[in-house]
Amino acid sequence: MADLEADIAIVGAGPAGASAAIRLAHAGRRVVLIDRKHFPRQKVCGGCLSGPAVARLRELLDEGQPLPGVAATCITFVIGNYRLTCRSDGRTQVVHRAELDAVLVEAATKAGADGWFGEPATIELADPGRNRFSVRVGNRRLEAGTVLIATGVAGLAGKLVGGRAAQPGMLAQQWVQPAGPGLPEPGAVELHWLRGGYVGLASPQAGECVVALAARVVQDAGESACDRLRRLNPGARLWNLLLPDAPRRYGARGTAGFPWRPRRLGVGNLLLIGDAAGYQEPYTGEGIGLALISAECATTAILSDGDMLARYLGLMRRFHLPVVRRARWLGRFLQLPVVSRLAEVLPLLPPGLLARLVHRVHVKGTL
Ligand SMILES: Cc1cc2nc3c(=O)[nH]c(=O)nc-3n(C[C@H](O)[C@H](O)[C@H](O)COP(=O)(O)OP(=O)(O)OC[C@H]3O[C@@H](n4cnc5c(N)ncnc54)[C@H](O)[C@@H]3O)c2cc1C
Repeated sequence: MADLEADIAIVGAGPAGASAAIRLAHAGRRVVLIDRKHFPRQKVCGGCLSGPAVARLRELLDEGQPLPGVAATCITFVIGNYRLTCRSDGRTQVVHRAELDAVLVEAATKAGADGWFGEPATIELADPGRNRFSVRVGNRRLEAGTVLIATGVAGLAGKLVGGRAAQPGMLAQQWVQPAGPGLPEPGAVELHWLRGGYVGLASPQAGECVVALAARVVQDAGESACDRLRRLNPGARLWNLLLPDAPRRYGARGTAGFPWRPRRLGVGNLLLIGDAAGYQEPYTGEGIGLALISAECATTAILSDGDMLARYLGLMRRFHLPVVRRARWLGRFLQLPVVSRLAEVLPLLPPGLLARLVHRVHVKGTL
């Protein structure tokens, strides 16, 4: 006997899961939102929201409820000795990731979703004939007709749809340090494209700077993401700005290499959303933006009649895939060894062209 019967169980309460819970609860569905962590919780992230992501978040929150963080004033893209700053038109936002996710989870519970937090979920078919799922969380169990997997790149997604689990290919690290000379002012964002990875610097409020790093891992050399990038890019000026003991104080987490796609986006009434449905370069696409798009596609499919999975796949092809392709194109170009070498001695591209590219990707969300 289940402790609870729900229409939809959502496993993972990051931006994908929480935004889906808000939409479905508003539509009158009985929703349970589950996360292994209590909120606010930490998640490695630069905290930069693209223009389209900000627009979607504003739609989800009650009128008058402010989005956490500050409007981004400018984005500076640094590659080699080349710095290009473009104004952000105030459409993008810099946030503390823990704060944003907590606000979304609160909005979901306020909209009527039940929140089960603090323990991981496992899922099985309750009765294959009835196509109902049994979701176990600690010593509680719920049954639901539809399940959304929004667990990020954690192994659960791959196992459930019969695909391969994401292989760790990156080390990610993040910390918050006091503001100082050379670090971005509140609202300013700096994206440093380096050999072997990236560093993002952003200030969501006066007096502090969020540092987020991601480094590709060829083999486990026991280095932190920061130490690895530093070794590969000894000449970058950025290192003097970072807290010298941070790489040791703040652990690095293994994460799937960019980009990553699951083999399937769902089976029957079980759909993958957010990073679980595909994972992009954080500095070329928009991780949170893509998470929100996929959640919107899934909720539209759930709320419409007919074959839910077919509708979801159709919507993802139309709205998610073009953003993924754009990010992949830019990511591949910037990762070409010749590009980073040239950028050390030459301006990479005519500044007007690069400015338009960066502006379109981060601010407008089009390319
Ligand atoms: C270094 C780095 C920097 C980044 N910077 C940016 C940025 O500046 N801007 C941006 O837009 N994106 C950025 N991203 C990407 C962004 O963080 C992700 O795309 C986004 O978090 C995806 O949201 P999600 O809801 O799919 O998953 P997540 O936010 O990862 O949430 C998944 C949730 O599932 C929970 N969970 C996992 N397994 C279980 C289980 N079995 N049971 C219950 N709960 C479970 C986890 O606790 C977690 O809360 C960055 C990523 C990295 C690695």
